[in-house]
Amino acid sequence: MTILQPPASPQLEQPLKLTVSFTAACNLACRHCYARCNEAKGRPELTAEQWRRVLGEAMEAGVISFYFEGGEPFARTDFLEILGFVARRALTRVRTNGTLMTVDLARRVKSVGVASVYVDLMGARPDTHDWFTGVEGSFERTCEGVRALEREGVPVTTLIVLTRQNAGQIQEFLELSHGLGAKEAAILRLYPIGRARESWARFALTLNEQMDVLAGLRHPKGLKVMQSWHPNNGNCCWQMAAVNPWGDSIGCAYLREFVNYGNVLSTPFLETWRHPLYRELRAGRVDHSCGECSRREGTHGGCRATAFAFHGRWDAPDPFDEPLNDGIDLRELPGWMLQESQGPQTEAGS
Ligand code: SF4
Ligand code: SF4
Repeated sequence: MTILQPPASPQLEQPLKLTVSFTAACNLACRHCYARCNEAKGRPELTAEQWRRVLGEAMEAGVISFYFEGGEPFARTDFLEILGFVARRALTRVRTNGTLMTVDLARRVKSVGVASVYVDLMGARPDTHDWFTGVEGSFERTCEGVRALEREGVPVTTLIVLTRQNAGQIQEFLELSHGLGAKEAAILRLYPIGRARESWARFALTLNEQMDVLAGLRHPKGLKVMQSWHPNNGNCCWQMAAVNPWGDSIGCAYLREFVNYGNVLSTPFLETWRHPLYRELRAGRVDHSCGECSRREGTHGGCRATAFAFHGRWDAPDPFDEPLNDGIDLRELPGWMLQESQGPQTEAGS
């Protein structure tokens, strides 16, 4: 393998994609929730009117793809209105825990023009899933939600975040997804943010353990299987933006505890995009990367969020990338990650 400085990321005048963390409210209370849902934040979330203004501004600026998540976006009764407002004009996808999905709601999601829905499963078995969510019966309700969406013709991607507790169920997860009618299933890595950060040692696997799980999978015929490890986890900061429920511009949902580029209620969205640290992350400058993959896939040293979490530097390689792991044990977070307050810390990394 050749280790070299990768070419710089493409430079844009505006992001192509925006993640909208619509609300921090959720009807579940997952032990590993990266959004720390349902913990009091003491700040009012953006109203529907404010979201309309901000998202309208983003569409005017040229954002073409919107990804709504939460919390549980459907927990807010004004969500469908905002969804319809955006889905009429841009590619729109939604991430949900699926438990509030009914046939009627699935019909409305379809009718407003949502392109696809991502539904989280925490395990492939009821006891594992419900242990994570803290809500008995949530597994069955999530599965029903997937069925309702599929029945109404809304394409579903099922998601699972790989943890020590569900590592032995990933094959079952693929089969379950296939059986529920999903066309796609995605296995995501655990990020050290939110409640997962607090309980990291309990949930995290070594990189070898993670690779072994992925290597042992048999893909059911007709099911597209995605995963978020190297080289599929390239540095995508160059095209991304994200806004949290309170209007903070945070670049990406996975950067939520590390940066804050300004609040879109007081600063125009594109102005936050021009924040010096934001520009730096988008440039794709890393001290080393996998040469072959960087050229071929544009990986640019992998994800900036996990690079920063494990190295405390924005130009470090991503230790979840096998060729760039450099001997880091992913079960152990650096001391500062275990001690620091959880709020956005723009200055910490600048
Ligand atoms: S369902 Fe999703 S948003 Fe809700 S608590 Fe669980 S991880 Fe967080
Ligand atoms: S922090 Fe990671 S996942 Fe988020 S945009 Fe940057 S590279 Fe992509």
